[in-house]
Amino acid sequence: MSGGDMLDFEIRPNPAPVSAADRAALLANPGFGRVFTDHMVTIRYAEGKGWYDARLEARAPIPMDPAAAVLHYAQEIFEGLKAYRTGDAVTMFRPEANAARFNASARRLAMPELPEQTFVESLRSLVEIDQAWIPEHEDASLYLRPFMFASEVFLGVRPANEYLYCVIASPAGAYFAGGVKPVTVWVSPDYTRAAPGGTGAAKCGGNYAASLAAQAEAIEAGCDQVVFLDAVQRRYVDELGGMNVFFVYDDGSIVTPPLGGTILPGITRDAILALAAEAGHEVREGPVSFADWQADAASGRLREVFACGTAAVITPIGGVRFPDGEFLIGGGEPGRTTMALRQTLVDIQRGRAADPHGWVTRV
Ligand code: PMP
Repeated sequence: MSGGDMLDFEIRPNPAPVSAADRAALLANPGFGRVFTDHMVTIRYAEGKGWYDARLEARAPIPMDPAAAVLHYAQEIFEGLKAYRTGDAVTMFRPEANAARFNASARRLAMPELPEQTFVESLRSLVEIDQAWIPEHEDASLYLRPFMFASEVFLGVRPANEYLYCVIASPAGAYFAGGVKPVTVWVSPDYTRAAPGGTGAAKCGGNYAASLAAQAEAIEAGCDQVVFLDAVQRRYVDELGGMNVFFVYDDGSIVTPPLGGTILPGITRDAILALAAEAGHEVREGPVSFADWQADAASGRLREVFACGTAAVITPIGGVRFPDGEFLIGGGEPGRTTMALRQTLVDIQRGRAADPHGWVTRV
């Protein structure tokens, strides 16, 4: 240990990294989540011992006992954020916000918290050693995936006594290669995502496992993403499968569903709340019913709807489908406010605009 409660990372460079030529070929068209860098971070935890064995090492399979608790009871959490090449610098967007959310997820899943500065340093050190993996294309990025799981070999149902924290990195191409395209969403009549008192506000793998059948239903209906309504009344919009949602009205006001424990507190959502207010919009966190969504789209009072998250930043929602019908928002075209907010946020993330909130961290 040094520097307060900051762990020292033992650095073991990959003795056989991918060649520059092979890396260039992979980076030409990385897609999402299939290509990985040369290194990973691992840190172990044991009850009574705390965090230990922090390493930056060659990315490799993780040996796992078949009785590892995570394989049975899904005690697992994760995060997602991006590193960018901005001119000569390499930067990350709000990593300390991901650190705080990671620890909030840890508390909900009865897992140990990782000191925030260790979390941020784990990302920083991985991005630094693997920075050649950040694609040059201006809309591309290096997606960072920190995660933690119960590694204890034990089949009893209780919080595990041993955990592994890990960070891997994956180059990602431009999300909208051919320009920003509105998506169509499916309002699920059958499935809900999170009930009050459940794990909706935590970024745990189980939430995503439970969303897959709903997402499959959305794809079957010809849609890109599923919209979840609240689990109690099946009336209010919670969020999408992997994004938060905003509504833009004809008087310039903007509304997003409140954080009541059933939706993920998106970091993009939080940034948009600030940026929209600064752009002069009246911004409100408040419930939006599906009935009002439909009625306000029909009357023209609702002008734009967009989804937001790390992956696509801001995605216009052009169409809405549900079992009884479908309707368009803003004629199915991207709206002005949506695209303006998107530009403002992307310019901050990419270092093309001032960063008054201190959201951008240099690696
Ligand atoms: N909701 C869900 C369910 C998500 O998986 C994500 C992506 N992390 C978001 C919202 C958006 O969060 P963020 O802006 O932090 O990426």
